[in-house]
Amino acid sequence: MQVRLLGWFQTAARDLPWRRERSAWRTWVSELMLQQTTVGTVAPRFEEFLRRFPDARAMAAASEQDVVEAWAGLGYYSRARNLHRAARIVAEKHGGEVPRTWDDVRALPGIGDYTAGAVLSLAHGVRVPCVDGNVRRVLSRLAGRDLDGRELAERAAELVPESAPGKWNEALMELGATVCRPRDPACGACPLAAGCRARIEGSADRLPAPKVRPATVKAKASYAWIERRGRVLLGRRPPGPLGGLWEFPGDRVPRACLAAALRARLGVAARVGARIASARHTITHHRIDAALYAATLRADPRAAGYAELSWIRERDLPALPMTAAARKLSGDRNGSARVWKVIE
Ligand code: SF4
Repeated sequence: MQVRLLGWFQTAARDLPWRRERSAWRTWVSELMLQQTTVGTVAPRFEEFLRRFPDARAMAAASEQDVVEAWAGLGYYSRARNLHRAARIVAEKHGGEVPRTWDDVRALPGIGDYTAGAVLSLAHGVRVPCVDGNVRRVLSRLAGRDLDGRELAERAAELVPESAPGKWNEALMELGATVCRPRDPACGACPLAAGCRARIEGSADRLPAPKVRPATVKAKASYAWIERRGRVLLGRRPPGPLGGLWEFPGDRVPRACLAAALRARLGVAARVGARIASARHTITHHRIDAALYAATLRADPRAAGYAELSWIRERDLPALPMTAAARKLSGDRNGSARVWKVIE
């Protein structure tokens, strides 16, 4: 099985930037970027990010805001903030070298079992498994049934070979990503087809069983487009959820509560006008209908509920690390919304 899969990987592996030159730092960064973000989005950004932060020491010397800004467009900014915290620990505690033991790697902020397995096996050649959604799917199908968490961990661990553990883990993930796809697996092109129970029993499309998802919770969010002399007001969120990211002033409230939210966030009374943009945004099982309203302030604002306020030129908005909702509302992503000029 190992020989067949590794032989297949040698010829079928995709040429991806993080595979051209291996190091623990490059592996770590690529794995973090690829969580919740597609290969197509990450690939063009990877080398640019690595030029800015070629190793943990370079990142440790930068500010969190620098790192978050370099991460702009990749989403889920908590990954960037954790990476920055972890880089500082690596610089201070490990002399700038990504550690080589499970306990040391796993202790770093933002690193779970999967990322620790990837960094240690792919970059350091440590014999540990690496179980992501692709591996879960492949191993469940090979076994012909759903494997629970413990069975999956045990099966994945016993399969990792002594030699080339990283290549094996990478090959298994690659097979899941390109051949043993969630729908319509290409069993005819699979190097493991001969021993695959799901293929023999015709159950591949049903395995693994989909996870039961919690019911969707719907919420409304309202934000204000406040313009002054060609610049628009944005607030940088305080530490906590989405901390450090910029957004149009507002909150997760319906329109009727926006004026009160602006008073709390900006410390002044506001007049809320017409809706000028809207966007739907989904975070895990929350579906948020966000709207942007033209608004005017009765006095100068202050950062009552934000870490900082800034008047930004509209053309500079795309370069700003913003919350996903603000990015959608500003219309430079997904095409789901656009901002109209406020005409007073
Ligand atoms: S034979 Fe089909 S179902 Fe089985 S591992 Fe290969 S691609 Fe997946």
